[in-house]
Amino acid sequence: MRIFTAVLATETNTFSPICVDRRAFEASLYAPPGTHPETPTLCSAPITVGRRVTAEKGWELIEGTAAWADPAGLVNRRTYEDLRDEILDQLRAAMPVDAVVLGLHGAMVADGYEDTEGDFLSRVRQIVGPDVLVCAELDPHSHLTKKRLSAANFFVYFKEFPHTDFVDRAEDLWRIAVDTLEGRAKPAMSVFDCRMIDVFPTSREPMRSFVDKIMTIEKSDADILSISVVHGFMAGDVPEMGTKLLVVSDNKPDKGSTLARDLGLELFSKRGTFIMPQIDEKQAVAEAMAAHLGPVVIADIWDNPGGGTAGDATVILEELLAQGARDTAIGTIWDPMAVQICMAAGEGAEIPLRFGAKSAPGTGNPVDGIVKVVHLVANAEMRFGESFAPFGDAAHIELDGIDIILNSTRAQSFDPSLFSVMGIDPTRKKILVIKSTNHFYASFSKIASEILYCSAGTPYPNNPARTPYRRAPKDIWPMVADPHAA
Ligand SMILES: [Zn+2]
Repeated sequence: MRIFTAVLATETNTFSPICVDRRAFEASLYAPPGTHPETPTLCSAPITVGRRVTAEKGWELIEGTAAWADPAGLVNRRTYEDLRDEILDQLRAAMPVDAVVLGLHGAMVADGYEDTEGDFLSRVRQIVGPDVLVCAELDPHSHLTKKRLSAANFFVYFKEFPHTDFVDRAEDLWRIAVDTLEGRAKPAMSVFDCRMIDVFPTSREPMRSFVDKIMTIEKSDADILSISVVHGFMAGDVPEMGTKLLVVSDNKPDKGSTLARDLGLELFSKRGTFIMPQIDEKQAVAEAMAAHLGPVVIADIWDNPGGGTAGDATVILEELLAQGARDTAIGTIWDPMAVQICMAAGEGAEIPLRFGAKSAPGTGNPVDGIVKVVHLVANAEMRFGESFAPFGDAAHIELDGIDIILNSTRAQSFDPSLFSVMGIDPTRKKILVIKSTNHFYASFSKIASEILYCSAGTPYPNNPARTPYRRAPKDIWPMVADPHAA
């Protein structure tokens, strides 16, 4: 067997001011054929798992390019078309193949392309013809469109959010692909449109039990090859935005449809109960200051660069200053211009500085003050599990008793080491403010006396009932109360 694999992925928040060009892919992951590292990033596990599976089978794996950009805004048209055509040319050169196994995200939007994955998959199908297996692993924060469904044989999505299972799901993808190629399975996709959009962390109930339940069904029913909850992505203003339930059956589309509908309606019945309880910045700062033990972690959950925002909101900082908080550290506020000024001033300098909140409305106001430049680090990195996440040239400044880390490469606050590399001991602070929705939890919960989920300002379109969508459906929950009522 000859199998072609490639990766083309990013997550597009169409409301984000941070546009994505080729440099953004090169800064995150751009690996020409054969140069993908041994460890995968979020969407590239089909390559690393595929190397092992095909080696064991004695099959030939033809690697195409792998490209991934960290979440941000609209992708430059030329950038998308060039990366797409690069991979399609590689596929043409590799023909004939028996299968195409891809790593995609599913929420990429490029200038002129609302459904980039649909466009890409259709062109793959055109090249390989109707009989070659085409499948992909995707992130559940994506849009499952009809165009994608008609172009591919089957999809497998991550089940966990945080996405701790992207390697496990690539194993599922390859297992089903091998079974199909060896004639033991005939995947058929059945989809139920839940007609809703919501946020589904699997680190808490009720989503934890729901995911456990679908995994039990996968194990116990031989007709069911895979079940995915496609969460949808509310920051992507596209016509087919929304939550979908996908069942991949072994050629039992009617049974798959019934199961997809039952599970989808169960999910719909729990709408609005999945997301963690949130408080505003006034309450968060007051509660953190009143706590007896530190550090209290205030998560600025909607100004999360991992969801495509700039990460420069100052709403919580302004509240800390207003309430006179001390013994507090903030990691991070993105402001490359302010970092450059601090670098020029040097460690120890006291300078007038304006920083933060330059990217978009709803992020607060730029903060002005006489700040002390405490510590400067070029090319700073924080830990992220077994690897490291860069946050660029960074400046630790102090303003009115608050330690603030300014960074120049947008990065979600994954790990407390982001403070220590900047000379701040996070365990000795009363209050830590970080920018992350959910991924911070595993590492910060180890040092936090308490975690407060704070919804501050409107850096992200987190309230679909009020988001000014132009292209997304308006007849789904929560825009309407019950779209399933006839
Ligand atoms: Zn995701």
